[in-house]
Parts: sequence; structure tokens; C-alpha cells
Amino acid sequence: MTRTVYVNGDYLPETEAKVSIFDRAFLMGDGVYEVTSVLGGKLIDFAGHAKRLQRSLDELDMPAPCTMDELLEIHRELVKINEIDEGMVYLQVTRGAPDDRDFVFPDPETVKPTLVLFTQSKPGLADSPAAKKGIKVISIEDVRWGRRDIKTVQLLYPSMGKMMAKKAGADDAWMVEDGFVTEGTSNNAYFIKGNKIVTRALSNDILHGITRAAVLRFAREAQMEVEERNFTIEEAQQADEAFITSASTFVMPVVEIDGVSLGGGTPGPRAARLREIYLDESRKAAI
Ligand code: PLP
Repeated sequence: MTRTVYVNGDYLPETEAKVSIFDRAFLMGDGVYEVTSVLGGKLIDFAGHAKRLQRSLDELDMPAPCTMDELLEIHRELVKINEIDEGMVYLQVTRGAPDDRDFVFPDPETVKPTLVLFTQSKPGLADSPAAKKGIKVISIEDVRWGRRDIKTVQLLYPSMGKMMAKKAGADDAWMVEDGFVTEGTSNNAYFIKGNKIVTRALSNDILHGITRAAVLRFAREAQMEVEERNFTIEEAQQADEAFITSASTFVMPVVEIDGVSLGGGTPGPRAARLREIYLDESRKAAI
């Protein structure tokens, strides 16, 4: 089925959607994005994604293409037109397309931002077989830029990281800087020891995951202890359980880190329970 996508005010078949070759995101990586998951045809934590998008735009001095209410309507319309039950909505805002390539930002009065959205249908997203099996991660050096809190489309290193993991026979990579884990290539990283969840604290070093915020809130409500601090790969390898979170994987158990098995190589009860709580609560609050 040909998808209907959204480009700068128009709903179009994906084959007819076009963006200029001078678009700043194409030439400079000058764009930000969000991925919102869809369960039961409804958006999960749209408010969180809209808030983070606004923050990314503000940090880069990039004008918003429309109001967040209008963005919500576009999300809903695309979900409806494309009959998405489970999947994602991808949104990208760029600094627009000036007449020529130039490092200097174009005048926002004359060059308007580019806004693109499309859906990705993923039947079975919530009931993922990977969540029952758990995933294997390797560690790689974190060589990304210093503003990882801004969700930019500069995803070459995370993409290379996923390829390094694939070549090593693993599913994903955790990035390490100055000896401490920052985050996964496209997710936040955690381990569990006893009743305590440990994950890196928020700063410019990591993306402030929308799923992270929700999961830590649910964990505290479920009387689990949460410690936000630096941790090493070795410490995570000695944990009872580990997991990652992101909008598209929810809570995903990690069963191997750099070849060392955790919990006998199968997902532990706490990560599985957190996934259950996250999915239940998110479905209830979906819009
Ligand atoms: N960290 C990075 C580097 C990411 O790319 C992502 C998601 O794309 C996350 C964390 C998780 O963020 P969220 O839970 O908002 O999807």
C-alpha cells in the first residue's frame, strides 16, 4: 500500500512527496525529529514528544513550523489515513531550503522551516518476540558531538554503532565515554541490582528520553529505587538485569553485554514487569 505522507501542508502519496536539494537537513544535518509510537491507533505520550521538540527547536534557534496542536492534528490524520494500529509516526523539522548552500543560517523571515511526517506500520510492536528473548549489546566508544540532548537528524554515528553491533553478532551498542556508559545508539540504558534501577543522569551527554521519564516514574510508583548516576560496563555486567527504553522498543530487556550473560541469558522479572506496566499505563493515557 502506498503511504500517505505529510510535507509542508500537503498530504501526498509517498512517491509524490519532495524536498529541495538545498534543504538544510540534507546538506548540513540541520534538522530535528521525533518518533511517537502508536498503539491501538492512538499516540503514546504525544505531549512529551511535543515538549521535547519545542526544546530542540529553541536550543537550535529554529522556528516552529506550526503550533503543537496543529502537529497533533497532523499526527492523528496520518494515523487515520494510513490505518495505523501499531507503529510509529516520524516527524522532522528542518531549517528549510534557502536558494543556495551556505553555513550561515538563512533569515527565518524568508526561509520557512520544512515539516515532514510519515507513518511506519509495525503490527505486533507491543507483543515483540525480541522482548521475550531479550537483546545482546556490545560497547563502543561514544564519539558523538556534545549536544546529545538535542534530537537532531545527525544519526551517522548511531547508525555506524548499529552496524558494529550487527557485525559482532549483537543487536545494539551501548556507548561509553570516559569509562562510563552514556546511552544506547537509539535508546537509554539501565541495569537493575536488587530493587534498584541505575541509569545515567540527565545532562547534555544523553537524549532525555520520553520513555525514560515515564518508566522511571512508574518504577518509583512500584516502590523500586532509582539511582541516576554514571556507571561502567563492568558494573552493568554484574547486575541482575539490564534493559533499554525508547519510544519504539518501550522497555526492552538486555540479556548480554560484551559477551557476558545476565540472569542466565533470559529476561529478568523486573524488566518484564516494567514493560508490562509501561504498556498498560501508556495505552490508558494514549490520545
Ligand atoms: N537516546 C537516543 C540516542 C535516542 O536516539 C533515543 C530515541 O530515539 C532515545 C535515547 C530514547 O528516547 P525516547 O524514549 O524519547 O524515544
